[in-house]
Amino acid sequence: MSRAFNFCAGPATLPEAVLKQAQEEMLDWRGTGMSVMEMSHRSDEFVEIAETAEKDLRELAGVSDDYAVLFMQGGASSQFSTIPLNLLGDKTSADYVNTGIWSKKAIAEAKRYADVNVVASAEDNGFTSIPEQSSWRTNPDAAYLHYTPNETIGGLEYDFVPESGDVPLVADLSSTILSRPLDVSKFGLIYAGAQKNIGPSGLVVVFVRKDLLGKARKETPTMMNYQVIADNDSMYNTPATYSWYLAGLVFKWLKAQGGVEAMAEINSRKATKLYDFIDGNDFYANPIDPRFRSWMNVPFTLADDGLNGEFLKGADARGLLNLKGHRSVGGMRASIYNAMPEAGVDALIQYMTEFARERG
Ligand code: PMP
Repeated sequence: MSRAFNFCAGPATLPEAVLKQAQEEMLDWRGTGMSVMEMSHRSDEFVEIAETAEKDLRELAGVSDDYAVLFMQGGASSQFSTIPLNLLGDKTSADYVNTGIWSKKAIAEAKRYADVNVVASAEDNGFTSIPEQSSWRTNPDAAYLHYTPNETIGGLEYDFVPESGDVPLVADLSSTILSRPLDVSKFGLIYAGAQKNIGPSGLVVVFVRKDLLGKARKETPTMMNYQVIADNDSMYNTPATYSWYLAGLVFKWLKAQGGVEAMAEINSRKATKLYDFIDGNDFYANPIDPRFRSWMNVPFTLADDGLNGEFLKGADARGLLNLKGHRSVGGMRASIYNAMPEAGVDALIQYMTEFARERG
C-alpha cells in the first residue's frame, strides 16, 4: 500500500523521510543493539538525542538562552492549567482573547485558578475574524495575556503578534509552530502540542522566559512546575523518549528543507492555492475573513450539505483522507501542515474540481 495524503488536524501526517529513518533505526539505533524506545533516558545516547533535538529546535525557532525549552507531557491541554498555576504568582487575574474552541478551553481551565478577563471575543462575528487590538480591554495588572495564534478547528489565524507591554504574552502555538518565522522575544511563554508540526501526540513543547520561572503556586503538582522541569532538563520523571527522538528527526528534516523561512514560502503557496480555488468555485465556500485565514487548517463547505458523505467517500477512494470537518462545525477541513507536500494540495484541488463538475 502506498502512502495516502492525510489531511488530519492531528495527529497529523509526518514527513515520509522521517518515518523511513525511524523505521531503519527501529531495531538497532546506531549500533547500540536497541531501539530508542528501549533506552534509558539517563544513557549517554539518549541524552545526546535529547540535547540535539533541543539545540535544533532553538535554532529553527530562534529561541535564545533567555528561555528554557521544555519537553513536557500531557498534550497542549495540560498547559491550560499549568500556565495559570505557574504564572499567576501573587496576581489574581489573567487576560485571555477568545477566538474559538481552543481559546475557550484555555479560558475554562484558567477560571479554576484566576479571575479571567476576556479582553476581546470573536463570538460576535461567528469566529470568522480577529477583533482589532485597539478594541481589546486589557488589564495592565494582568499576570499574563493569553491568545491562540491559530484556531485549528475554525481555521482562524492571527496575522499579527499582539502588543502586551510589560504583561507577559502567552501563546498556544500548537497548530502553527515552525510553519513560518516568529519573533520569540516578544513572548513570555509559548507552548505547542507536538502532533501537528512536531511529532507524536502527548508531547508538548514549551518555551518559557527564564525570569518567569520560580513563581509557581505551592499547590502546583511537581510535574507541572516549570522550574522543576527546567532544573531537571525535562527529565524529572521518565520523559516521552520516543516522541522526543521523533521530534528531533522532524527538526533535522525541517533544517534540511531550509528552516522556517522555506516552510513559510511553501505553506503560503499551498494555502493561497487552496483558498484561491475555493473562492473561484461556486460549489465551495470558506467563511473566514481573508485577512485571518489559517495557513494550516482550511475549513470549507459544499454548496449542498447532502453531498458531504459522497464527497468524503470519493476522497477516501483516492487516498485523500480525514477531510471531515470537526463535529462542532461540520463541513470539511483540510489540514496542510509542514509535512503535507504541495502535491497533496494539488491532488485535493484536482478532486474538488472534478467533484464540483460532476455533482455541482
Ligand atoms: N490547542 C490547539 C490550538 C489545538 O489545536 C489542540 C489540539 N487539536 C490543543 C490545544 C489540544 O492539544 P492536545 O490534544 O495535545 O491536548
